[in-house]
Amino acid sequence: MAEKTEYLREKYEEMKEQGLTWTIRNLEGPSQPHVTVDGKECIMLASNNYLDLANHPRLREAGKKAIEEYGAGAGSDWSIAGTMDIHEELWDRIAEFKKTEAGMTYQTGFAVNAGLVPQLVGKGDVLISDELNHGSIIDGIMIAQRMYKADKMVYSHSDMGELEKCLKKAEEEGYDKKVVLTDGVFSMDGDIAKMDEIQELANEYGALTYVDDAHGEGVLGGGHGIAKEFDVEDDIDIQMGTFSKAFGGFGGMLAGTEGLIKFAYNTSRSWLLSAAFPPHVAAINIEALDIVEEEDDRVKKLWDLTEYFKGELESMGFDTGFSETPIVPTMVGDSKKCQKLANRLYDEGIFGLAIVYPMVAKGQARIRNQINAGLTKDDLNEVLRVYEKLGKELDLI
Ligand SMILES: *Cc1c(COP(=O)(O)O)cnc(C)c1O
Repeated sequence: MAEKTEYLREKYEEMKEQGLTWTIRNLEGPSQPHVTVDGKECIMLASNNYLDLANHPRLREAGKKAIEEYGAGAGSDWSIAGTMDIHEELWDRIAEFKKTEAGMTYQTGFAVNAGLVPQLVGKGDVLISDELNHGSIIDGIMIAQRMYKADKMVYSHSDMGELEKCLKKAEEEGYDKKVVLTDGVFSMDGDIAKMDEIQELANEYGALTYVDDAHGEGVLGGGHGIAKEFDVEDDIDIQMGTFSKAFGGFGGMLAGTEGLIKFAYNTSRSWLLSAAFPPHVAAINIEALDIVEEEDDRVKKLWDLTEYFKGELESMGFDTGFSETPIVPTMVGDSKKCQKLANRLYDEGIFGLAIVYPMVAKGQARIRNQINAGLTKDDLNEVLRVYEKLGKELDLI
């Protein structure tokens, strides 16, 4: 047995030599602004827990209560006997929250994109995608091409001129369905899709719009996401996202017309052939949406802290790239130097993630700082003090 998988160990060693492997760090306890990481107390700047809900007492209580009522697991695939009334309560809650006709959940956001995107198109149709879209969209597109014979076009990041060229070309070449796919917030740079312009172009050329709002929900539009931010709630055809980021829970979501939802759960293989997430996860997610709607100062606090942090970093001389959201990168450039900065931050009690090639282009390595509404100004001042020290140490400022 060991011999047959020896080639995998060799490949792993090769990747390790090139600095392309992950070192998994363990959180000892809940994900929150102050965490213990591999035995060291740190300020957390690497989680997607923007609204500090992952360890919120109300989410914990909702989960416990649902376990008492529904047990630990769903017991079956969604499609067979795993969808419980509490799941459907969440589906309705998603529709209400996103102001759409209907909503539903998948295991994860990844499962929405990989499962639904291929079903939207067939031969003679085209998927038009931003070059920096999330890997799960890219996988969905690949399945659409290989299994369902759809075509794809890719436009340079947020380049509306190029998007229009793609749409024009698609029209000239007589494609039937055209679907424009975009992330709402791009996860490596923290910039926002030009959703109003994308929607306008799509309308002009009769294309559908598909938005992945994983990093926009809980953050943009007072917490409701990118559609509300740009006032295009009635226009976007397909909205998906996840409960695993700002909402502090778990699971993928889809919102749109009733026709879309019914079609989606009858065709997505990632939904049909996979178990429902446990009922307490549904309860936690419902509670999260309630809190986001009830406490609007939570989102405001996130943005106040973000603006403070970004402003201070920039005035020290750091480059924060294209950041427009609580994803605030400190650009480093060289991969090795970036890894070194991440290690030095950790030594000083700050957990920030180094993002290096191939996650971003060569020479574009950065620390991805992610702000959390539960941090205090004192926390950020401590982070800034360390950044100033290390910025000088590593010749970044
Ligand atoms: C995180 C993320 C996903 C995946 O969501 P999960 O629920 O964690 O699977 C999909 N798309 C984007 C843009 C993401 O950032």
